[in-house]
Amino acid sequence: MSEQQLPLSAPSFGEEEVEAVAEVVRSAWLTMGPRTAAFEARFAEFVGSRNAVMASSCTAALHLAFAALDLGPGDEVIVPSLTFVATANAVAYTGATPVFADIVSPERPLIDPEAVRALIGPRTKAICAVHYAGYVADMAALRALCDRHSLALVEDAAHSPGARGPEGPAGSLGDVSCFSFFSNKNLVTGEGGMSTSDDDHLVARMRLLRAHGMTATSWDRERGHASGYDVVERGYNYRPSELEAALGMVQLGKLPWMLERRRELVARYRRGLAGVPEAGFIPFDEELDRMSSCHILPLVTPSAEAREAVRAAAAEARIQTSVHYQPVHGFKVFQPQASLPITEDYARREVTLPLYPAMDDADVDRVLALFPVRARAGVA
Ligand SMILES: *Cc1c(COP(=O)(O)O)cnc(C)c1O
Repeated sequence: MSEQQLPLSAPSFGEEEVEAVAEVVRSAWLTMGPRTAAFEARFAEFVGSRNAVMASSCTAALHLAFAALDLGPGDEVIVPSLTFVATANAVAYTGATPVFADIVSPERPLIDPEAVRALIGPRTKAICAVHYAGYVADMAALRALCDRHSLALVEDAAHSPGARGPEGPAGSLGDVSCFSFFSNKNLVTGEGGMSTSDDDHLVARMRLLRAHGMTATSWDRERGHASGYDVVERGYNYRPSELEAALGMVQLGKLPWMLERRRELVARYRRGLAGVPEAGFIPFDEELDRMSSCHILPLVTPSAEAREAVRAAAAEARIQTSVHYQPVHGFKVFQPQASLPITEDYARREVTLPLYPAMDDADVDRVLALFPVRARAGVA
């Protein structure tokens, strides 16, 4: 009997989620309304931010953030290249240009403040940090640069609900921070995202732009709080649904044990891989794992060939793997920019192994059994 496919990630859903969604369906109010407002309030409290604004995705939340910061053509935003393309796309939606910075090292694959400093110029308006894999970027150094040059600091916190840096929780460290609740993230609502910010002006602007620039929402009118509306800016439809908000509320309640389980699994991976140094290494370290949301499990193999051998062996064993990420600065749409040697080297050698709270220890051991991997190439 062949073993079951081991996925890269899977949401932890139970009857609570089913019931929460059923309740919304029964209520017959499916779009942005009271559950969205309640989830926003709970999420803001969770990250220690004054406000939270839910959106239809993290990409939408990032676009709202950059739009509310008044970015436009001629402006530049410094972003890491080691990220999902959404970070850079959201900058580009405003007409501004993403400028890509290298990471610190393969052991610390986070945006390098020194690299950022070298890229700051007269057009730079903001820096967007990504807490790769759930490990918080060096926000103190980035904040100092932003203060010195009057730049906005944005957190792409898609990987990191529940993560902390030395200065506090992810989501409370930027002028505005954006989370993702996509199906493979730590807190899952299917599609969905959230911005957090202490800046009430920015938040008001994001709320306006989220719903077409209209001065009143359908929910306001439903409750009789408004009878008409004006449109005061060209906005978007980035409304979340109540189904997503209801799922988010249940998932947020489960986040503490889901996080704890992720950390236990990472510890098991670290112990197992410590015994096979030729397999490569997991970036960061145990101490940082305790602050991380442990979103993905990256393994940095010794070479590009070794990475391909691991991926081939995993596929044969019905274990799903991935690569985080193909460097964004190399994509055609961004007209490939100057090379970023550390990012490029990392991206050639990295393989992402399965990690999700419902994994059991035996699942981790099944992945660890792949190592050491003999390169298939050249083996008769
Ligand atoms: C997933 C992800 C996004 C986009 O999130 P969506 O909710 O799917 O729009 C943005 N940035 C990073 C780093 C991500 O991993």
